[in-house]
Amino acid sequence: MTETPAPDALPGTPPLAGPTCGACGARAAVQWQRRLTDTEFAAHLALEEARRVERLRLADPQEPPPDFGPMPTPGECVTPVFGCAAHAINKDAAALVHQKTCTAPDPTHLPGCTCTPEPAPKPEPDPVPAPLPPGWG
Ligand SMILES: [Zn+2]
Ligand SMILES: [Zn+2]
Repeated sequence: MTETPAPDALPGTPPLAGPTCGACGARAAVQWQRRLTDTEFAAHLALEEARRVERLRLADPQEPPPDFGPMPTPGECVTPVFGCAAHAINKDAAALVHQKTCTAPDPTHLPGCTCTPEPAPKPEPDPVPAPLPPGWG
C-alpha cells in the first residue's frame, strides 16, 4: 500500500502516526468496513497462498500435512475505511459493511457515502419463554 502524504503536512513534519482520513489525510477519528476490491482480494489470496506454501515447506514430513481449511472468499474479507471528524459518515452506516467501491469518505455525500452498504445481519430473535405451569402466572 502506498501512503499519500497529508496535504497539510509541513515540510519536515513527520507523517501522522496511525490511520488517516481517506478523504483529506487528517488523523482518522472513525472507521467502517468495506469489501476488498478485486485487486485487493487477489493480493490477499496470493499472500495467503504464499503463507500456506511456506508452512508446507517448513512442515515436518513425518507429521500429517497442516490443515489450512478453505481459502478465504470475498464474502468473509473486509478492510477498514478511515474518516476524520470532518469526513465521518453517520454512525448507523458505519456499523454496516460497505461495498468495495467505498474506499474513502466522499465529502459530497457526507454523512452518507457513495455506496449502498450491505444490510445488517438479522438480529437473533428473542427466545420465546416457555409457558408457565398453571398457578405460576
Ligand atoms: Zn478528512
Ligand atoms: Zn459506503
